[in-house]
Amino acid sequence: MSLNSLRILPLGGLGEIGKNMMVYEYEDQILIVDTGIMFPENDMLGIDYIIPDFQYIINRRDKVSGIVITHGHEDHTGAIAHVLEEVDAPIYATPLTRGLLEVKLARRGLLEKAQMHTVQAGEKIQVGVFEIEFAHVCHSIPDGVALGITTPEGLIVHTGDYKFDHTPVDNWPTDYAKLSEWAGRGVLALLADSTNADTPGWTPSERVIDPAFDQVFREAEGRILVASFASLISRMQQVGKAALNHGRKMAFVGMSMRENAKMATQLGYLDFPDDLIVPLDQALKMKPKEVVLMCTGSQGEPTSIMGRLATGRNRQFDVQEGDTIVLSSHPIPGNEETVYRTINKLFQRGANVIYDPIAPVHVSGHASQEEMKLMLHLVKPKYLIPIHGELRHLRQHGKMAEELGIPPENIAVVENGQIIEFEDELMRISNRVPGGYVFVDGSRVGDVGPAVVRERESLSRDGFISVSVLVDKDLYQLRDPEIITRGFVYKYEADELRMDINETVEDVLSISKNGKGKKAIEGELERALRNMFHEKSRRRPMLFTNVDIV
Ligand SMILES: [Zn+2]
Ligand SMILES: [Zn+2]
Repeated sequence: MSLNSLRILPLGGLGEIGKNMMVYEYEDQILIVDTGIMFPENDMLGIDYIIPDFQYIINRRDKVSGIVITHGHEDHTGAIAHVLEEVDAPIYATPLTRGLLEVKLARRGLLEKAQMHTVQAGEKIQVGVFEIEFAHVCHSIPDGVALGITTPEGLIVHTGDYKFDHTPVDNWPTDYAKLSEWAGRGVLALLADSTNADTPGWTPSERVIDPAFDQVFREAEGRILVASFASLISRMQQVGKAALNHGRKMAFVGMSMRENAKMATQLGYLDFPDDLIVPLDQALKMKPKEVVLMCTGSQGEPTSIMGRLATGRNRQFDVQEGDTIVLSSHPIPGNEETVYRTINKLFQRGANVIYDPIAPVHVSGHASQEEMKLMLHLVKPKYLIPIHGELRHLRQHGKMAEELGIPPENIAVVENGQIIEFEDELMRISNRVPGGYVFVDGSRVGDVGPAVVRERESLSRDGFISVSVLVDKDLYQLRDPEIITRGFVYKYEADELRMDINETVEDVLSISKNGKGKKAIEGELERALRNMFHEKSRRRPMLFTNVDIV
């Protein structure tokens, strides 16, 4: 690895959807772009969210010159507090993104400490050796930017999340001129969003949601509940507009929704008449036909409002007969099962649930294939590094670039942790650093490793069984083994189970006679029991073994 090279290191978002985080490093200076989180998959029990493994940065914390956040979505902002706990560096963001970051930091008591700087699309800043320009891009949240990063090795364009929407809700289209101006200067490498790389054509404009909402509001007889992300500010605006047109009042449910809406209104990103928004307790007293409630939980997250409503655990109100519930988002890949389970439960509770593709109540905020090609033509990079996507998306993106004439050796399809180096206009795949998961469980970070998640998984599936044995120093049993089971369904009789366990214990004890210690015998017993269960029932309950030698 050469010190006089530009090193680009993805710590998150490559090989997965979510927890986007990119490191740009030159000599002893580091620029971080985005600090995102990812929502856990179904089988990651009890995990609230996942942050990138940024040990690489922790080891070089004095070198971080700055952190730039491209837009306000969780998969780009969610880990900011975790990063700030380790790294003391200025943060640069556009006004709305900054507002969303501040809501997050305030909640963790880190706002005082954070050095926040507002940047505007079209501006230029210097962060160490990196000169960064910001170009406005459309997405499903206002105030997103692509970055033009001038490094000693050349100009790098980092798109963030984008689409080419000609009629965005905030009437502010993507800055084509800036993108092509960068091309005119010569772009060394493009790092571009690949989320929708397997979606042909163009992503429809966000406007197409308006008629769909209009129809929902026209037909709903009772309350309307709209579920979305707390950071989907433009969706709040669209729901507000429909409410206004159909004579309903709007209430925000849940702290993150309320705080974000308040902040976005103060900054002028939400424009509502004063009397449109009412507090939740007032909305709950009004006639059902007169209100729309905006809540979190479009991904069926168990701790969100929609997740709690689906399971009847929400404190302030329940789903009632006649409610119309609109899920205004696509399931994030991997979340489909949770989302559809939530939808089924909401139906069971008497609601009418409307979701894409039943009605176009959501459009993607990401570029589809034709837009990705347009981006390549506008920016004209020498090299392409597809970012934001599972491996299949990154590959697909690379394939498209090849069709457009970028030589395959100039396309780097890599996953998290792979360093890419640029020196004298040449790209080289360099060494790898760990780029894994850090689980956040409650407020604890990193305590819960994959092993714990695996344990929770096997507990939930096969229960546990504890076998306790009391022996004298010659390893003769002083009483029958004590057997305790929980959540353990066994197809044959408990007596038979007891006999099998007794037999296994006897076997293990008889081959352990030659002076083995407690720990060794417990381990052996665990292995033997595991084999026995697997043979008899193909189940893998969690096993606890205890051998007391008196
Ligand atoms: Zn986004
Ligand atoms: Zn994103």
